[in-house]
Amino acid sequence: MANLPILQFEEQIIETVEQNPVVVIIGETGSGKSTQLSQILYRRGYTKSGRTIAVTQPRRVAAVSVSRRVAQELGVRFGEEVGYAIRFEDRTSEKTCIKYLTDGVLLRESLSNPELNQYSVIILDEAHERSLNTDILLGLMKQLIKMRSSNLKVLITSATLDGEKVSRFFSNCPILNVPGKLFPVKIRYSSERPTSYLESSLKTAIDIHVREPEGDILIFMTGQDDIEKLVKKLEERVQSLEEGSCLDAIILPLHGSLPPELQVRVFSPAPPNCRRFIVATNIAETSLTVDGVVYVIDCGYVKQRQYNPTTGMYSLDVVQISRVQADQRAGRAGRTRPGKCYRLYPSIAYHEDLLPATIPEIQRSSLAGTVLYLKSLDLPDIDILKFDFLDPPSTESLEDALKQLYLIDAIDENGSITSIGRTMAELPLEPSLSRTLIEANDYGCLSHALTVAAMLSAETSLLPGRSKSTDKKRKHEPSDLPDGSGWGDHIQLLQIYELWDQTNYDVEWCKENNLQVRGMKFVRDVRKQLYQIMQKIAKGSLDVQTNGRRKESQEDYRHLRKALCVGYANQLAERMMRHNGYRTLGFKPQLVQVHPSSVLKTDEEGMLPNYVVYHELVSTSRPFMRNLCAVEMRWVMPIFTKLEKLNINRLSGGTVRSEEQTKGETPSFPEKDVSVAKPPDDHQSRIQAARDRFLSRKSKG
Ligand code: ADP
Ligand code: MG
Repeated sequence: MANLPILQFEEQIIETVEQNPVVVIIGETGSGKSTQLSQILYRRGYTKSGRTIAVTQPRRVAAVSVSRRVAQELGVRFGEEVGYAIRFEDRTSEKTCIKYLTDGVLLRESLSNPELNQYSVIILDEAHERSLNTDILLGLMKQLIKMRSSNLKVLITSATLDGEKVSRFFSNCPILNVPGKLFPVKIRYSSERPTSYLESSLKTAIDIHVREPEGDILIFMTGQDDIEKLVKKLEERVQSLEEGSCLDAIILPLHGSLPPELQVRVFSPAPPNCRRFIVATNIAETSLTVDGVVYVIDCGYVKQRQYNPTTGMYSLDVVQISRVQADQRAGRAGRTRPGKCYRLYPSIAYHEDLLPATIPEIQRSSLAGTVLYLKSLDLPDIDILKFDFLDPPSTESLEDALKQLYLIDAIDENGSITSIGRTMAELPLEPSLSRTLIEANDYGCLSHALTVAAMLSAETSLLPGRSKSTDKKRKHEPSDLPDGSGWGDHIQLLQIYELWDQTNYDVEWCKENNLQVRGMKFVRDVRKQLYQIMQKIAKGSLDVQTNGRRKESQEDYRHLRKALCVGYANQLAERMMRHNGYRTLGFKPQLVQVHPSSVLKTDEEGMLPNYVVYHELVSTSRPFMRNLCAVEMRWVMPIFTKLEKLNINRLSGGTVRSEEQTKGETPSFPEKDVSVAKPPDDHQSRIQAARDRFLSRKSKG
């Protein structure tokens, strides 16, 4: 710790911070930004006023790991003077003076305390990651320093050299460069891209191990699946090497869903005569610094979740990294001595194929939660479409968000936030689930809705074969688990939790049923927290039992499904007669299929439900709806009525644009040939009538 580069700049940092409300600090990964800056300011009395130093992290793992380290260095008990807060997990106390938190948690805190008066310093760490929430926080800080110019300091740190842009955003605030003492890193390129980067990484790693002197190997893979595969293969290969022919080996995975106790293993140095292989996601690019690395293997790819606002579809794509990322990865090899980086792609690919920088998350995410947040800030006369962003999102994704918020009653047709919207903003959930909880409370089925929301918010996959990253059919359907009674995955999740509840949360029961124990315990805890938040919001007028134990009936399920239909109003699909699938309803209908992992099955007549709502649309081999719930036609009706009134320009809270500009935004609806399988009843004809009115009005206007 004593020789971390940033510590040599302590005086300069303090001086600059004292004279300026906002300072940008740029320093190589590992220079000590995350662990030392907060301690420097703490030593210099920035918490004397009784206020806290906040340090944001885009990743949960980093918030946990870095705060643990700082507590250790300061010799204080973890969770007391130094602690962390991430979604659904708060390990801080009255005494906390250095608090690490995810950027999302800080955003939420600002809703109940807009001036964030509890903090004397706010450090936005890892700004180069350009996470959606950090970008929004940048905008928020800009306003905050005007209101609190005398008693708030904002520091923004970045590991890359593009600090000018952030500095310009804050009226040319000073930039401090902390030069890291990086040793030279030799770059080796492959002559061509390998057919399998997993095999190629394996071969390169073993080559290094056999030929090169000691020093750990850091291997960048794209995700948990690949990491697990490679770890297994490496273990086999290392075993088969002749004993005594090379160093001993320890092989360690490193990714976000690893339990914390396994994560910290990467921070213990290799024992003598031993080489560590660390197989990591891009988490090891800048968020976590692993000491001892001398060799880096870079496959050149990263797994990225992207949202397409036109289709409302998510995809988890393996995409090429940017040049900035490639340089960061290489840099990991030269922290302690000269190192080597093996790029599994040719030099021409680096220079010509890779984008110069990563696309900020704000330009590839669904913005419903963000727009709801901005609307709830009550900024006067704000036109969301013209908000001051560091890099603005596309108009299309803002409009997509506004439309969704309108359909779930979070904003009215003029774009003003509703009281429902305000309540939703206080819940740490996606808008669709927040809306479901509020509706469920009205129907007296909040208890069930809390369970479903908690099950869907588990950070890891709970059910066997339902891993978020795989798209395979569940091979071994666990026969003892309930099947959702034909109503779909939400009901199944509820039933599973209720069974567990009846066993008094028995760990053995989870194991017998292949349910992830840690995940299930987390769900139980999340459920409790959501209940407490709802209780605070509703000021006691809750209809719920705390333990979720309640004899459920078809009627209960029906209420829950109805609440889900309201929450997922923007995620609705109608079965098509002619094709074997569904068509989503809304502006740009998509043909989609039921995800193979779904428990939604055809009825005795071989029919799937006419209407379903879905938790998300994912595009893998084909567009799929994942986590489905069957809903009734009559509940769909009000959604059509709302769509009729929709005017996107009014929603944004801005001035109405000219007719010409709004062309191309005309919602299209399923044509008549996709009418549902059952003979038309009264409700259906009413829906049809609503549709017809809507379409004729649109074609006229
Ligand atoms: P930066 O934020 O500039 O990338 P950090 O402050 O995260 O740098 O890291 C500084 C040093 O602290 C590194 O050598 C890193 O390995 C070490 N470190 C960080 N977190 C931990 C931890 N949880 N356990 C042990 N060492 C850690
Ligand atoms: Mg850091």
